[in-house]
Amino acid sequence: MSIEVEELIEEINKDGRRTIRTVTDMFAVPSHPLQKRIGEWRQITFGTPHVDALHRRAREEMAEFQDVIHHNKFATMKEAADVVVTLFALADHQGFDLLTAVERVQDQNELRRWKRHGDGTGQHIKEAVHE
Ligand SMILES: [Mg+2]
Repeated sequence: MSIEVEELIEEINKDGRRTIRTVTDMFAVPSHPLQKRIGEWRQITFGTPHVDALHRRAREEMAEFQDVIHHNKFATMKEAADVVVTLFALADHQGFDLLTAVERVQDQNELRRWKRHGDGTGQHIKEAVHE
């Protein structure tokens, strides 16, 4: 006999309240219609993928984005969109809603403390865990 243990995720809401969710609950969020559309198109057009192949495509699109960012504003817009399309396809394949995940991460970002790198970016400061 085996017992399955569900992973629990604790999130802190903007108002400071803590919410405990299961990973199953987080993956039960319906996909954004655009993500669903991209996932269905990808499946019909290319067939069943391996997650590593989807990840490789995202990396390739990121490289294309990097190649144009200093040279061509229109191509930058197009390549940024290509990156997002590949991430939508990957999220659809993995069964989570990318925009919901982005919103949750941004909620957490706004609650974190940050160390500035001085170049317009930064890294969050890891909080000590008090138990
Ligand atoms: Mg591209």
